[in-house]
Amino acid sequence: MKIICIGRNYANHAKEMNSAVPEVPMFFMKPDTALLPKKNPFFYPNFTKDLHFECEIVIKINKLGKNIAEKYAHEYYDHIGLGIDFTARDLQQKCKDKGHPWEIAKAFEHSAPLGDKFIPLEGKDINNINFKLEKNGETVQEGNTKDMIFNVNQLIAYVSKFMTLKIGDLIFTGTPEGVGPVQIGDRLTGYIEDEKLLDLKIK
Ligand code: MG
Repeated sequence: MKIICIGRNYANHAKEMNSAVPEVPMFFMKPDTALLPKKNPFFYPNFTKDLHFECEIVIKINKLGKNIAEKYAHEYYDHIGLGIDFTARDLQQKCKDKGHPWEIAKAFEHSAPLGDKFIPLEGKDINNINFKLEKNGETVQEGNTKDMIFNVNQLIAYVSKFMTLKIGDLIFTGTPEGVGPVQIGDRLTGYIEDEKLLDLKIK
């Protein structure tokens, strides 16, 4: 399986990063080794001094497809989850400055922890899902999928022009504003609507 991550998909986050709002979706990938085995703590990597959380709605692909038309994209998923796109911000800045790929800052071991489960989309509007992240009990990020620059179906259509989507592939759909650093000892908890899905200790 592969993990596709969308960058700069919320205007207020692009702004806080001093990045331009993209004209087409921007994506990068993480390997399957970026997943964190369930219930494991996350260990702060020794190669960064500025590790940031980015809380994101994650789409799980349930059907093989390529060149998927936007109007059929909704047939390719029926569960959503919550994940953290951990980012070594200091390394990412160096990569950006040099115009280099940023895998060392984004695709490292366990850089894509997921919540405990994916929840059925049934009865929910994919374009109106509230989600939030708390750090040590304090809300740090709050988002709604209606604020995406490119909605989920547009993302699926775009990504599938370039690569086949397979069953089990994950799409991290971008983070809203409020990204920030974590330290050893912090605890991140994430919610979709009022359901707590993610509970992660930083060790
Ligand atoms: Mg992200």
